[in-house]
Amino acid sequence: MKTFTVSVVTPDGPVYEETGAEMVSTKATSGELGILPGHVPLVAPLTINAVRIKKDNNTQTLAVSGGFIEVRPEKVTILAQAAERPGDINVDRAAAAKERAENRLQKSKQEGVDFARAQLALDRAINRINLAGK
Ligand code: ATP
Repeated sequence: MKTFTVSVVTPDGPVYEETGAEMVSTKATSGELGILPGHVPLVAPLTINAVRIKKDNNTQTLAVSGGFIEVRPEKVTILAQAAERPGDINVDRAAAAKERAENRLQKSKQEGVDFARAQLALDRAINRINLAGK
């Protein structure tokens, strides 16, 4: 079976780096992406979402906070400001971040809070909560 290398890299270093992957699926801003080996080259911005990497009949899921995917026929690279393996996610921290973001969004109309920034923080927290422990 054809495979490719997958790297997920953040400013803190690599979060995932494996050869032998069979498929990567996630959601770009333009819609769902399912990448198989030999895919045409592509660069796309990602949503804050799960990235699923299929290898050896297992699927590794990562919580990825946006960034970009670069696809080449033999390698997929994801560059993001943050990415976590489910076991590394601190649920209490994510729950606190979710609550802070929700409070900011509620106040935003009166107090000039940066609505877009609070919405992104909320999206990151929800993504982490959804994937923690999976
Ligand atoms: P917080 O407000 O809790 O810092 P955040 O969404 O603003 O959340 P980021 O700026 O996305 O955090 O991430 C900063 C760093 O902290 C990254 O390395 C990220 O992987 C890590 N991180 C953020 N939230 C969590 C979490 N709940 N569990 C584990 N690591 C986390």
